[in-house]
Amino acid sequence: MIRLVAGFVLAQAIFIAGVLALRAPSGALVPDPDPSASWEPRVPVRNAWTHVIIHHSASGTGSAAQFDREHRAKGWDSLGYHFVIGNGSLTEDGRVEAGSRWLDQADGAHAKPEWNARAVGVCLVGNFETADPTPAQLRSLEHLCRWLGSRCGIPPANFVGHGGTHGNATLCPGKRLDLELLRRNLASPR
Ligand SMILES: [Zn+2]
Repeated sequence: MIRLVAGFVLAQAIFIAGVLALRAPSGALVPDPDPSASWEPRVPVRNAWTHVIIHHSASGTGSAAQFDREHRAKGWDSLGYHFVIGNGSLTEDGRVEAGSRWLDQADGAHAKPEWNARAVGVCLVGNFETADPTPAQLRSLEHLCRWLGSRCGIPPANFVGHGGTHGNATLCPGKRLDLELLRRNLASPR
């Protein structure tokens, strides 16, 4: 009996240690299974990517499929962003969807023309002028940005908001998305 109880306690301890091991020091939790396998492009990664430009959708709901329809209605050939991070409206909260422009390593259509060939476009669903991003979106954003940083050799300082790119006058991605904090987190090892 004692041996059984000891075995149970040991199994619990191993389980808890396993859960803790997944937690980064910042409190971020890498989902298991790690979704980054689905972000791998179908062609070699371009070495021209120098920046990541972060957007909000300025809408309460959205998904890659929804924005793809909206962008095609504007006459573009497909979703303008490379990635979309859901908020639980049309896809699950924090779900990262890789668009065809990323998978095919094509120019984006999300910023001024001079940026679209060298900046990866990431859009979080939500309006961050009026509402906060969800905790799951923030965890996914950091996870995706760390992955992009190491995959493309992009330094933390080059993860910028749409409004921060030269020549753009836009509130995007909203004052409630703390990009300073994101850059600080990216600069510290996990
Ligand atoms: Zn934007």
